[in-house]
Amino acid sequence: MLRLMHVHAHPDDESSKGAASTAKYVAEGVDVHVVTCTGGERGSILNPKMDRPDVLENISEIRRQEMEAAREILGVRQDWLGFVDSGWPEGDPKPPLPEGCFALVPVEEAAEPLVRLIREFRPHVMTTYDENGGYPHPDHIMCHTVSVAAFEAAGDPTMYPDAGEPWQPLKLYYHHSFHRDRTQALHDEMIVRGLTSPYEERLSDWKPDPVHAARITTRVPCAEYFPVRDRALLAHATQIDPDGAWFACPLEVHQHAWPTEDYELARSLVDVETPETDLFAGVREALERMGV
Ligand SMILES: [Zn+2]
Repeated sequence: MLRLMHVHAHPDDESSKGAASTAKYVAEGVDVHVVTCTGGERGSILNPKMDRPDVLENISEIRRQEMEAAREILGVRQDWLGFVDSGWPEGDPKPPLPEGCFALVPVEEAAEPLVRLIREFRPHVMTTYDENGGYPHPDHIMCHTVSVAAFEAAGDPTMYPDAGEPWQPLKLYYHHSFHRDRTQALHDEMIVRGLTSPYEERLSDWKPDPVHAARITTRVPCAEYFPVRDRALLAHATQIDPDGAWFACPLEVHQHAWPTEDYELARSLVDVETPETDLFAGVREALERMGV
């Protein structure tokens, strides 16, 4: 059985990044494990209908329940690393990060519970964010740092000897869900259909970035699972406004204009040829050769 591990910073990130490819792999019988580094305790309430004192008071518990619902919808297992959300620093200059938060934990210490989970679950493939976090939230950057450290350490018997039997995942990917080419394609398709595009303003001050675009090695076709992604995302009711910008672009436009979720192959211990369309390309063949 193939195993895939996604490491994410907050509850909801698993539903906004790579959720349709997750649903596709689950449907194919892949065992998918989501690891959530923090509880999302410092996330703002982004859905005006949920911005109520009773929700704010119980935000940690509510976000756990939302995660549980999303987990069911996606058909994955999920574990918390148990770190505390660092929050999005606002102001100029930015205030110092709150004491004890995830981004301030030393990397060697923060990687330990993840190494333990990798050795338990034994994923063949892992995903995380790139070195910029996808967007520069301190928890997303820390998630990258910790995931890379754990990917390197998990197979090394001299590292974290008390955290289980060594296991080396074979590939590591970075999510590239929100890039300019995709946004442009969604925008163009909406115009063609005579719809009002929510992307006009964003695109006008977003210069084409061929260097970033060239980082994408892997496009996983998964349009038929976009409805699952939408449902998982909506389960995070405090984080997503069903009437907001996210859902202003119709499902059919997404499916037609950009039917893939995109990744960058950051490390591979198996032979691969890029571009590829499958996170397990090369892994399936390697396991077959090994008679697994
Ligand atoms: Zn996040």
